[in-house]
Amino acid sequence: MSNIKIHPAVDNGVRAGSDSFQGASLHCRCTDNPVEVTVKAQCAHNHVCGCTKCWKPEGALFSMVAVVPRDSLSVTENEDKLEVVDTSAAIQRHACTQCGAHMFGRIEDTGHPFHGLDFIHTELSNDTGWAAPEFAAFVSSIIESGADPDNMNQVRSRLKELGLEPYDCLSPPLMDTIAIHMAKAKGVL
Ligand SMILES: [Zn+2]
Ligand SMILES: [Zn+2]
Repeated sequence: MSNIKIHPAVDNGVRAGSDSFQGASLHCRCTDNPVEVTVKAQCAHNHVCGCTKCWKPEGALFSMVAVVPRDSLSVTENEDKLEVVDTSAAIQRHACTQCGAHMFGRIEDTGHPFHGLDFIHTELSNDTGWAAPEFAAFVSSIIESGADPDNMNQVRSRLKELGLEPYDCLSPPLMDTIAIHMAKAKGVL
């Protein structure tokens, strides 16, 4: 097995979801009064994401994020603990103020291409029927969070080995160059 840690949900192999799955509840990481979000739909476009905005577990290079129809999602417990992480962002990420878990991301701009979809992290659910991650997005961007640029070939190889095709907006070397520049500007590299 690889020593590259992509995300705990895929590091031991990608598990298939269930075709008959109809959604479930998600809980934040608080042991007392956890925030509960209930989703009445299977997720779509599940993927691992290397961007700097998505919530990811400690030590993981990638987040795992999927979308569900906005009207299938509701906050069912302890909504008062939620706060939007960055109100200026296109995706309003509603996070637990106590444990930091992002419970859902919502786009309020009706002109946005993804309006009508909410972003969720299925790892916050105990149910295993969620559709499996299918690809890796914004792979280059893990450098902006401090990942070593020299390991990018290994990361991409591992993603391919897991069946998670790595994607960048430009060719990987060009995207890495842009990300290294940004990481240096931010002082994380
Ligand atoms: Zn919490
Ligand atoms: Zn992301």
